[in-house]
Amino acid sequence: MPYGYHNRILRVNLSTREIAVEEPGEAFFRTYFGGWGVTAHYLLKELTPGIDPLGPDNLLIFASGVVTGAPVGGSGRHAVGGKSPLTGGFGEADVGGFWGAELKQAGWDGIVISGRAERPVYLWIKDDQVEICDASHLWGKWTADVETMLREELGDERVRVAQCGPAGERMVRFACVMHDVTRAAGRTGLGAVMGSKNLKAVAVRGTGQVELADREQVRELARWLREHFMEEWTGSLYEHGTDGGLTYLDAIGGLPTRNFQQGSFEGAKRITGETMTETILVGKDSCFACPVQCKRRVQTTGRYEVTPAYGGPEYETAAALGSCCGIDDLEAIAYGNQLCNAYGLDTISAGVVIAWAMECFERGLLTKEDTGGLDLRFGDAEAMVELVQQIANRQDFGNLLAEGCLRAAQTIGRGTERYAMQVKGQEFPMHEPRIKFGLGIGYATSPTGADHVHNIHDTSYAAEGGAIQDMRSLGILHPIPADSLGPEKVRLVKYHIDWQVLHNCLGLCVFMPYNKEQIRDLVRGVTGWNTTVFELMKAGERALAMARAFNYREGFSAKDDVAHWRFSTPFESGPTKGVGVPEEDVQRALELYYGMRGWDKETGAPTAAKLHELGLSWVAELLYG
Ligand code: SF4
Repeated sequence: MPYGYHNRILRVNLSTREIAVEEPGEAFFRTYFGGWGVTAHYLLKELTPGIDPLGPDNLLIFASGVVTGAPVGGSGRHAVGGKSPLTGGFGEADVGGFWGAELKQAGWDGIVISGRAERPVYLWIKDDQVEICDASHLWGKWTADVETMLREELGDERVRVAQCGPAGERMVRFACVMHDVTRAAGRTGLGAVMGSKNLKAVAVRGTGQVELADREQVRELARWLREHFMEEWTGSLYEHGTDGGLTYLDAIGGLPTRNFQQGSFEGAKRITGETMTETILVGKDSCFACPVQCKRRVQTTGRYEVTPAYGGPEYETAAALGSCCGIDDLEAIAYGNQLCNAYGLDTISAGVVIAWAMECFERGLLTKEDTGGLDLRFGDAEAMVELVQQIANRQDFGNLLAEGCLRAAQTIGRGTERYAMQVKGQEFPMHEPRIKFGLGIGYATSPTGADHVHNIHDTSYAAEGGAIQDMRSLGILHPIPADSLGPEKVRLVKYHIDWQVLHNCLGLCVFMPYNKEQIRDLVRGVTGWNTTVFELMKAGERALAMARAFNYREGFSAKDDVAHWRFSTPFESGPTKGVGVPEEDVQRALELYYGMRGWDKETGAPTAAKLHELGLSWVAELLYG
């Protein structure tokens, strides 16, 4: 009997309405684990290079990991993948909540959806029963309404719903797949892929459980987390949510402000997690089996009606719709967050594309003729709220912004592309490379474009503490300054990113304070595999190599691994005044990083030798014959 996984992948062809089951076997799960690994496997094997990401030939993949659904904190994650309509490359976003664990309890490790339905449908999965149902009555509805209607229709309050939202229906290029209403598989525009398939929702109810090889070993880790999470940094996540980190980032000059022109914000105090706790917070929320409860529920009844049903702003949202747009109005940010969750929009891309438009307007590169009469200036909360709605509905100026800042800038011209804060077409998240030099290398080289989830935050390794201690078993013995880009830092970036991608493949939250040996023991306890830290890191490296191979086949090269010019420009004010990342250091570090990863310096693809070393001879064959 398999432990941790079921050996069952659900295949659904929406064009033919065929439903099938695939049983790929233990070697598949021990090689790819889940998440990125499984997604990249199907994309490489089944997509013809150059297909339209918003056409029926794309795949939409829901991939749990071998740890998803195990009864231990952090195990409530899974990934959504496909070819990205935002970047044209490897598209993936991982997400927490309860949906992934429910899918596992229903007896499935993942779903691979192909084709396009003739009219709106939803998928109903009740254990091993799978149906394609009419969704015309759900089309156009906000996410909380859809969840309520589906639970009523299916007669079960415990049904979990993943859905694309109206923004996905309209194929906004940064639409996300919303889960449990408040949890976004936010990045790379997979909600638009879902909408393009006329797939409104995937409703799941599972009454089984994940079989564990060693239940006591898993229980032991769950106990350890419950007893210790308040002493670790997860304690501050419990207190003030992810937005609790905004205060620190502002203090050290790393809070993206006015489209990354500054690193600290005079209105920061009004949008912190602490302020949220003191003002609009009405409750905390968690993911499957997690005691940390870093999720927020907020309510406002004044200028904006915000209901707890749509959660509350994460740090990324508070900064993207807040400081990045020069806005210090927490109620407006909470309302913007509600709109994004209701329509199914990525709050990061939404904030950055609006910030791009604000900067271009202030520089005179956009006028009221472009913006439909909006006097678009930093700090204008009403304009931000208006534009979120326009983007989601693809109306007026918002229709251009719905393409993402790179395409919007290319359409407008007039030098606006210079201010589009993106890599490979995906907007930067709310982390500033000028205070974390290695982060910029991660942004430049990520196969999903500017992305923070699998990236490094150098400040964690700049002083003695748990993070550097956990790296000692890999041979990194001493703290490394956050503003270094020397060989030691490049090696750290590589190891760290491999380990982060591994989290994704396992279905494990990156916030968990587990060390590498605890994670190894968790995988052993769940699967019964006598795994090692070496094997797990190789799984992360393998998944990343496959994603890079996918991008190479789609026409990406080393030229697409770009560090944005703005991060080499020194800050003019604030705690980090005068700090920029020297361009020549970035180039040297990128070359070294390519060398360490076994990526070709022209094509950016993993070499045949590297692919063979990772056990990916079939990918070497695909790429090089
Ligand atoms: S730490 Fe937060 S995001 Fe991670 S599993 Fe727990 S509640 Fe979810």
